[in-house]
Amino acid sequence: KNEKDVIDIGSRIKVYIRCRGRKEGGLKDNTESPIAFRDDYNREVIVKSGPMNLSKSYNYDRVFGPDTDQEMIYDSIAADTLKKILDGYNYTIFAYGQTGTGKTYTMTGDILSVGYGDIPNNTGIIPRVLKDLFQKLNKFSGEYSVKVSYIELYNEELKDLIGSDKSQKLRIYDNKTNGQFEVAVHDMEETFIESASEGLKLLQEGSKHRQAASTKANDVSSRSHSLFTITVMTRELSKGGYEQLRFGRLNLVDLAGSEAITRSGSLQDRVIETGKIHQSLLVLGRVINALVERSPHIPYRESKLTRLLQDSLGGRTETCIIATISPSKACLEETISTLEYVNRAK
Ligand code: ADP
Ligand code: MG
Repeated sequence: KNEKDVIDIGSRIKVYIRCRGRKEGGLKDNTESPIAFRDDYNREVIVKSGPMNLSKSYNYDRVFGPDTDQEMIYDSIAADTLKKILDGYNYTIFAYGQTGTGKTYTMTGDILSVGYGDIPNNTGIIPRVLKDLFQKLNKFSGEYSVKVSYIELYNEELKDLIGSDKSQKLRIYDNKTNGQFEVAVHDMEETFIESASEGLKLLQEGSKHRQAASTKANDVSSRSHSLFTITVMTRELSKGGYEQLRFGRLNLVDLAGSEAITRSGSLQDRVIETGKIHQSLLVLGRVINALVERSPHIPYRESKLTRLLQDSLGGRTETCIIATISPSKACLEETISTLEYVNRAK
């Protein structure tokens, strides 16, 4: 077996923690925060809990405290991934955490009110990636094309957030191209874009739709997963004079609120729905576990979320999870559950 073909998936799942500030999210909480960070060592979260207030520490690839701004997150986590996408690799970034801790803020940020000029401070990873990508592509000597899609998975039903028919249910199927199976989504709209602002416009359209649907159906957005995908194709002539084609894909996944894992609803459909979110987040955890442990069987097929991302978890892919947490004492139980969940991914 060729050494180079052995891909070390285990080392390719990175886990980052981002703790939001105390003022954000509308919680008025003046009690002492049970979450602490060490300035000299930004890989550790220290949590005090229980009647004895015992400390437990957790280690991750990197931990970002409440003063971390959007630019810092982008530079530390996402900026380097673009090189890999242009080299023909896939990369998946997940935001995982309790509702209100900043998943959407981290992935998308404040974009609904901005124009298409400069990237404002509050914007998250996706607009920054789009801007950076086109800056790089404008300097690229070969040909390129970029397409994006934006879909939402709610109650194991898949919907297009930017397609012409947003109520249509999309179907996942196995597509065979060049003798290789690939997961594809039937009727999903993939839109070619020629600039960052065109991409941002689609992101705004889809996010608006996601939020509007939410107010009607009682905050669907916290109980649905959203997936924004950027696919980049490049073509250039190599030094030897032959054509080189590369396909790279970046998946940006804003997961449903992880409180589904610990909290059980009282209403009947709330229970079913919670069960489905619970299921997909648990399967995701198991898939990640299986990849890390190099298990021969990876349970991709046990949920639509992992099925959808099958080609993008493992293989020529790198994955990272940004777990968002709150510093508040009232959220301690959820925070611990989040820290434990992503702890298994290491
Ligand atoms: P989630 O998507 O996890 O439910 P949001 O991203 O919607 O949470 O965040 C909840 C609120 O807190 C939003 O108003 C958001 O702008 C704000 N917020 C979250 N994290 C931060 C942060 N690190 N800095 C500033 N505001 C934040
Ligand atoms: Mg959100």
